[in-house]
Amino acid sequence: MSPNCNFIAGTWVPANSAATLPVIDPATGAGIGSIADSDVEDVDRAVKAARAAYDTGDWGRTSAVERGRMLSRFAALVATRAEEISALESRDTGKPRSVAAADIAALVRYFEFYGAAADKLHGETIPYQNGFLVATIHEPYGVTGHILPWNYPAQMFGRTLAPSLAVGNATVLKPAEDACASALYLAELSNEAGFPPGAINVVTGRGAGTGAALASHRGIDFMSFTGSPEVGQIIQKLCADHFITCTLELGGKSPHIVFADADLDLAVPAIIRAIVQNSGQTCSAGSRVLVERSVYEELVPRLADAFAKVTAGAPDDDHACGPLISARQQARVQAFVSRAEAAGIPVLSRGTVDSCANAGGFYVTPTLFGPVPRYSELAREEVFGPVLSVLPFEDEEDAALLANDTDYGLIAAVWTRDGGRQLRLARKVHSGQFFVNCYGAGAGIELPFGGTGKSGHGREKGLAAMHDFSMSKTIVIQHG
Ligand code: NAD
Repeated sequence: MSPNCNFIAGTWVPANSAATLPVIDPATGAGIGSIADSDVEDVDRAVKAARAAYDTGDWGRTSAVERGRMLSRFAALVATRAEEISALESRDTGKPRSVAAADIAALVRYFEFYGAAADKLHGETIPYQNGFLVATIHEPYGVTGHILPWNYPAQMFGRTLAPSLAVGNATVLKPAEDACASALYLAELSNEAGFPPGAINVVTGRGAGTGAALASHRGIDFMSFTGSPEVGQIIQKLCADHFITCTLELGGKSPHIVFADADLDLAVPAIIRAIVQNSGQTCSAGSRVLVERSVYEELVPRLADAFAKVTAGAPDDDHACGPLISARQQARVQAFVSRAEAAGIPVLSRGTVDSCANAGGFYVTPTLFGPVPRYSELAREEVFGPVLSVLPFEDEEDAALLANDTDYGLIAAVWTRDGGRQLRLARKVHSGQFFVNCYGAGAGIELPFGGTGKSGHGREKGLAAMHDFSMSKTIVIQHG
């Protein structure tokens, strides 16, 4: 990696903009480097490199089989360097070491999965009038733009780039300004896997500058965005200005719905994991626990006991939680906690911050609240930290009402042994994924994933992502 450079057309290119942004270690608050705060010209260079790779370069001439092999080679390369990349990711984001290691394993799986799938995106033939053959084919858009958040930078490099590359697009990625290290490292590594220059380009910088320049660039044919709903709306409007579509993955307020007949031994650890994972900075975190009133008094002490055991600490010490990504996120999450306390919402339990953790790190004490009033912000807004809300419900109908009582709709889980209820709720709850007696925050590369409402639209992961990153064309042949 080269400081203050972008990765364009297979090489490090010093940014046109002299402006830089600091890289901060979330575990200590100390500055550990800098990245380029790229301007419109930097973005233009990257998009032109991708355009050339697609229109006239080697990348545009690759067959699906060749692309699949490149993706597979990249997966193998990442696997051989997994330890180094996960150490880099842990340092850059504050993730506990085992969480970073799991993220790199997921990154490998993304490239493996889409490498194997690259030559399996089949079209269809359609019966039409006599004397005609009608076929549909899936074509790449051309150049796809990708804007990422800071919570799973390496995993999302795989989630968003692998399916787009598999179908043949050339790509330009802007990672989050708070977490660029793995994207820059992986971009350079892509050369070793044989990706031709321009297939993968990475430009760093702030959202309102670099990000907006990318989403509004006329050379971009499709955008993929993951981040906040507010910025998602901006991206959609920028895309509309030049008539392109986008996928938006914007977070959630995902519920566990726990009925009295649930296996609580199974549910409790899964509920804790689903909010503690990545220190609560997961779009699909299970941040609400909806509990049938008749089991509330039994479940709450169990959750409180488990929560009290959650510790946040230095990434290298591999506690359940690490620091949050930035001082800004720390202040934001703490403000949610303070407002809830000031509103008199009872704290059921708190975890701890390890006494050895550096005082300059962006740590937040994991906190369990309940019963949380239905119309409070804690019941409805995404906190994006290790903060869990418990709310009682009366019956199945009330459970569905409450589950749908936010503007989000990303994922949901029901915990019950009643098969009919499992299926009824699977249909009633607004979400892109629905789990029964299990929960998979961010799980399953194979499983189509995405939201509705304020959680966004479009589907990532699984074969669905390859459909989203390509266009269907209908070819009609008259053969007499
Ligand atoms: P954000 O939406 O501001 O940033 C996400 C990405 O968008 C970053 O790369 C950023 O540089 C870029 N961006 C910001 N403004 C832009 C603009 N005007 N045009 C183009 N790109 C722009 O998210 P954040 O500030 O990092 O986090 C704020 C909140 O967003 C969090 O507290 C959380 O609730 C939510 N969030 C959700 C996810 C998710 O996975 N869905 C991830 C991170 C954050």
